[in-house]
Amino acid sequence: MASSARMLPEAILNGCRLKGISVIGTGDILHPVWREMWEKTSVPVDMIAVPTTEVEGADRVHHLILLPDYDAARDLADALIPFSKNVEKNGRPQVKLQGEDIARRVHDLGGMIGPAHAFTPWTSLYASHNSVASCYGDEQIDLLELGLSADSGYGSRIADLAGVPFLTNSDAHSPEPAKLGREFTRIETNSNHPDTMAVLDAVKAGTIVMNAGFFPEEGKYNRTACTRCFTPYSLSEAEEHKWKCPIDKGRIKKGVRDRAEELSSGPETQRPPYLHIIPLAEIIQRTLGTCSPTTKKCSDLYQRCLVAFGDEISILTETPIDDIREFHLELGDAVSAFREGRIVLHPGGGGQYGTFSLG
Ligand SMILES: [Zn+2]
Repeated sequence: MASSARMLPEAILNGCRLKGISVIGTGDILHPVWREMWEKTSVPVDMIAVPTTEVEGADRVHHLILLPDYDAARDLADALIPFSKNVEKNGRPQVKLQGEDIARRVHDLGGMIGPAHAFTPWTSLYASHNSVASCYGDEQIDLLELGLSADSGYGSRIADLAGVPFLTNSDAHSPEPAKLGREFTRIETNSNHPDTMAVLDAVKAGTIVMNAGFFPEEGKYNRTACTRCFTPYSLSEAEEHKWKCPIDKGRIKKGVRDRAEELSSGPETQRPPYLHIIPLAEIIQRTLGTCSPTTKKCSDLYQRCLVAFGDEISILTETPIDDIREFHLELGDAVSAFREGRIVLHPGGGGQYGTFSLG
């Protein structure tokens, strides 16, 4: 667990309260010590902690796994131990099994599985495979996590993914609300008192109301570009130059957007609305023009926002813009620009991060 020492279940749940998250994945749930900590945690009645983990399978594909309860997590750990050296040591264990063999074991335990950060140029389904079946064989995937490098648009014309719910989640390494839920998924359950099973059922049924996350263009491998001088190239130009930059002979690396495009052969499928957003603390930082979102000036304004409007996600998604403008004019303008997509993007590529400015 390469995480902050403050990253404890109670602190995570407190951070979720401020952020406005009511369903959280535990992460790392195959790890015995972490699992025991969660089992001993009393989760507030209006919050749900879903036992989750990532696992690295054959070909370095990362899988996201959701489990119905802690017993299933224990059973899955036992089932994977013969194929792994670090199930009990590493939060994201490496397992010498194909996706199909991992998925079968997860399904036998009533869990759900799908590719984690599926479009990341390394350690992902589409980094190593051209199709879902090539990794998962006859086993169905129950979800696909888009990850920081993609939004719904990247998967909406991939015929393989028709009917597969897209999740936008992010793993947190410290419990501050600015680091929790950098990406989030809003789901609708058919229960008045939802529990873990209701969450799993909602994901399975695809009753997702909204995905929210970063601009894929911010990623450092969004566009096909030279890894030395970062000059962008189209796919055909890159092929013509045999993936070698004509300017400085640097290597041209295929971008996530072009990778998604070459997998996209089907018609566009309808997906829930996707809100491109960054954490409120970072919006405040941009608004105040300070060097970091953790300065006293920023955290003071952040705290005042929470007092005025409740939790962070409400402010990002639904607090009336006029109310935010009345509270702080520039902040209201900035939140409005995100909600309406008035953002100017400068895509990354070749290892250089992209940037954006408010339009
Ligand atoms: Zn170059």
